[in-house]
Amino acid sequence: MRILVVLSLAVTSWAQPARDYPVKPVPFTKVHFNDVFWAPRIETNRTVTIPFAFEKTEETGRVRNFDRAAAVLRGEALADKRPPGYPFDDSDLYKVIEGASYALSVHPDAKLEAYVDGLIARIAAAQERDGYLYTTRTIDPEHPHPWAGTRRWELEKVDSHELYNLGHLYEAAAAHYQATGKRTLLDVALKSAALLDQTFGPGKQAIWPGHQITEMGLAKLYRLTGQQAYLDLARFMLDARKPDSPGRRAPSYNQSHMAVTEQTEAVGHAVRATYMYSGMADVAALTGDTRYVNAIDRIWENVAGKKLYVTGGIGATGSGEAFGANYELPNMTAYNETCAAVGNDYWNHRLFLLHGDARYIDVMERTLYNGMISGVSLDGKTFFYPNPLESNGQHERSPWFGVACCPSNITRFLASIPGYVYAQRGDQLYVNLFVGNTGEIRMDDGRTVRITQETRYPWEGSVRMTVNPDRDAKLSLMVRIPGWARNEPVPSDLYRFADQVKEQPALKVNGRAVAMQIDKGYVAIDRTWKAGDVVELMLPMPVRRVAANSAVAADRGRVALERGPIVYTAEWADNPKGKVRNLMLLDNAKLTAEWRPELLKGVTVVKARAVALQTNASGAVERREQDFTAIPYYAWANRGRGQMMVWLPREEASAKPAAFPTVATSAKITVSSNPHRHNPGNINDGEDPASSSDASAYFDWWSKQGNAEWVEMAFEKSATVHEAQVYWFDDTGRGGVRVPASWRLLYKDGAEWKPIQGTYGTERNQYNTVSFQPVTTTALRLELQAQPNVSMGVQEWKVR
Ligand SMILES: [Zn+2]
Repeated sequence: MRILVVLSLAVTSWAQPARDYPVKPVPFTKVHFNDVFWAPRIETNRTVTIPFAFEKTEETGRVRNFDRAAAVLRGEALADKRPPGYPFDDSDLYKVIEGASYALSVHPDAKLEAYVDGLIARIAAAQERDGYLYTTRTIDPEHPHPWAGTRRWELEKVDSHELYNLGHLYEAAAAHYQATGKRTLLDVALKSAALLDQTFGPGKQAIWPGHQITEMGLAKLYRLTGQQAYLDLARFMLDARKPDSPGRRAPSYNQSHMAVTEQTEAVGHAVRATYMYSGMADVAALTGDTRYVNAIDRIWENVAGKKLYVTGGIGATGSGEAFGANYELPNMTAYNETCAAVGNDYWNHRLFLLHGDARYIDVMERTLYNGMISGVSLDGKTFFYPNPLESNGQHERSPWFGVACCPSNITRFLASIPGYVYAQRGDQLYVNLFVGNTGEIRMDDGRTVRITQETRYPWEGSVRMTVNPDRDAKLSLMVRIPGWARNEPVPSDLYRFADQVKEQPALKVNGRAVAMQIDKGYVAIDRTWKAGDVVELMLPMPVRRVAANSAVAADRGRVALERGPIVYTAEWADNPKGKVRNLMLLDNAKLTAEWRPELLKGVTVVKARAVALQTNASGAVERREQDFTAIPYYAWANRGRGQMMVWLPREEASAKPAAFPTVATSAKITVSSNPHRHNPGNINDGEDPASSSDASAYFDWWSKQGNAEWVEMAFEKSATVHEAQVYWFDDTGRGGVRVPASWRLLYKDGAEWKPIQGTYGTERNQYNTVSFQPVTTTALRLELQAQPNVSMGVQEWKVR
């Protein structure tokens, strides 16, 4: 019989803690979207992505892991004792339950609710008697996943994700309780949290989550239960971080390189970082300790000023899924994990709740409309893990991932977006986002104000708001004037508009102009409001050119296009010959916007005349003017693989002319295997790599090691060739790909492959040239053998 030690806790619905954020968000359950942009997405999330994500968590054994752990707890012998694929697989189920709970709270669905009830029963059955819940250890305590360690809570195993999973459990439990009023998952969470409280704290064990979110989860449990222990524990886990941790990686990877209150720069794994900064904001709000606020304010200045992509994405480098150095914002290799975009939104929203300043909403909105929703396809079924700003066709959405954090994060975040529209403090009512909706806002004095927004935002900039207080009321309506409408794309000097506009935003109440006095990004309309008062906001939406700070090397000599909150990109499908990386957009090119209801579920595109650059037979660059179309960045990669480019060259020095077509560039490449689904076309794209480690357009067989492979080049028609040049991909210092141990060239003679005699070089950072007696053939083949325990890859293969 299970001892429920926690059931005596009184749970009052969202107990008001003694202290919290000075600005209060209006919960998403009080805001109903009926707009053209978000409402269909949230519905797709509910009807497609959430069921699909549940299906995947079942299909991949993530749910079965709980059943296997439960069987062990019942004393049954398991035939299959293999640990879960990753020690954090439990968290994906928690996240989808969180998303489903949010969906349930605005859209009752008995079938979904019953299904979630069943899942919760299976999770509860996998919880050990003392509250411990971590399937990989329970399934086989002797042989859990290698990252888990041999004992519970080993500091040396901060990558165990033992506490990370629980953070997501707590978030899901709070959401499920609020959505359904049922305590089932909350009881599991509280029993687990009680175990943490017994285990950790002053005079007990000290540990911090190797992947943050436990802190945010504990803060939610504190808000729900009023139990001080959970808040103390959240704070303890922030402060326990020490630089001398013996983890697998550098301490900065999980932000334990110094006391959290001393940190000044965003470093390490970007998702971990933003979850930690969000946890620090929660603890600061709930305790009043300003040291946490001072630290995250400094770190935010660093991110907004030096580490933020124009799409709102963060985490520039795939190496450690981390923030790069200041101004290190490469485009094609940009990592920008979808989860980091979600984390950036969490963090910026919390900073707004602390400071009441719209600059955080400016960053949040940029991420929401661009680098966050780019993570999910328009049909809701395929996902991006990294969100790059340029592609040569190597990027493709995937239906799921071995590490499935991003899809499950999207499911929970999308469902909660209505909670980011309004906020309230005293008699101030903040309107932060513009979305067709009806919101019901309870003010501090108990008055209720209903606001209706009618708008086609983000496609059009006029917003009509009807204010309906339950009785005539003096209050201050704080209308956000977005940074992009105030000539300030971001609240820093990282990006600026490179053009001028005359039209200014304007605001009217009942048809009368309001003075545009902007403070902290808001115009405050102070008056006694009567039911039916109408506020009209006009935000001019010309297409704008954005330039980056000259310290950002990747964007020099380039512009990005924006209209309203939407960042644009040029994609292969809308531009002549399926090419965009050879384009140049001159400063005098006129930009126009055009609504295209049939395209990509309805988008406004940007049209212009661009210049295509092409190298001719004699090596000179030829210019050709052609039509140019750009689509919203978030909508790219919904029509197959191909070229894409956000930052457009505005001068020839930064442009990349298309290579002159050769027998090689017009050939078809096939490869023996393609474990990472790279684009084999990178091998003959005619682009000379900068070095063997150039990560822009290569092909490799990672993670196959010591392998034998081949690449075939089939010509359009029979050709006579006498020379081949191969440039190897080798990411020494970053990854496990090296030049091959050996290779050779063969040509096709009828149905037979015949080897070609020659000298086969394996030098890095140069073409390895093989000259031979001319052969007339329809195809060539490279046969390669990798060195032991490493993989191999090809940057470019040319033929003469
Ligand atoms: Zn992720």
